[in-house]
Amino acid sequence: MGFENTGRVWTVESLASYLAEIKKPDWCDSVTLHHTGAPSLAQRPVGLTAQHLRNIEHFYRVTKGWSSAPHLFVDEDQLWGMCDFRKKGVHAVSFNGRSVGIEVLGNYDVEDARSGRGLACWRNAAAATKVVLDWLGKSAGPRTVFFHRDDPTTSKSCPGTRVEKPWVLSLIGQPVRPEPAEPRPTPSVALARDELRLEGIHWVAPVRVFLAKKGVGEQQIRERLKKRGKYFYYGEELLEDAFYDKETEATWASLHELESLRV
Ligand SMILES: [Zn+2]
Repeated sequence: MGFENTGRVWTVESLASYLAEIKKPDWCDSVTLHHTGAPSLAQRPVGLTAQHLRNIEHFYRVTKGWSSAPHLFVDEDQLWGMCDFRKKGVHAVSFNGRSVGIEVLGNYDVEDARSGRGLACWRNAAAATKVVLDWLGKSAGPRTVFFHRDDPTTSKSCPGTRVEKPWVLSLIGQPVRPEPAEPRPTPSVALARDELRLEGIHWVAPVRVFLAKKGVGEQQIRERLKKRGKYFYYGEELLEDAFYDKETEATWASLHELESLRV
């Protein structure tokens, strides 16, 4: 059976201690990341509880009739067990035989992974992934960190269209408790406190504010700042790190990209 750890809960530190005491399995060389989809963050406003985990187990074991399950469920502050780490779980057809399966609370087709609770969940998941890979004697990379959607047998977007592998790998590479990592940079224009903030790994600023302070006219900004598909462009230049921030109702981009724009 693959539900030995339902009821166990760890922090990143206590998971590392727990794994240090158990034998690493010879079948496992990687971690596969998922999002729970349903429940979403909105459906679990204070994260997961022990009862939620029992319900999830019941769903897999009884409703679906599975013999096993993912190994770990991650919310913003805790790591919840399910399948024994030494045993193969059930979470992604092509990766069950080689990966520890980690589920991140949230629906990242629609919810934001890069701020607020979404970011807290992904930081926690990244730290847990690092702990598991350390235990396996592996370092994080494209061959040791899979997304469910990397499985050619699935058409799912899991762990969500708003989550990209390079970003997750960069999170895994960060210290478990990120200090205000980089010092606040000095932009070429004067930005107020709330016009420059650290988002994930980038210092970001609102595009319109930044360009206006550079002396670019409002009309020109409106004409040139465009979203095509998933990406933002300024004229023909791709703003790779740009995103729309609901709270400020503005498009933000990394300071680095903004500084290198030809305006
Ligand atoms: Zn999945």
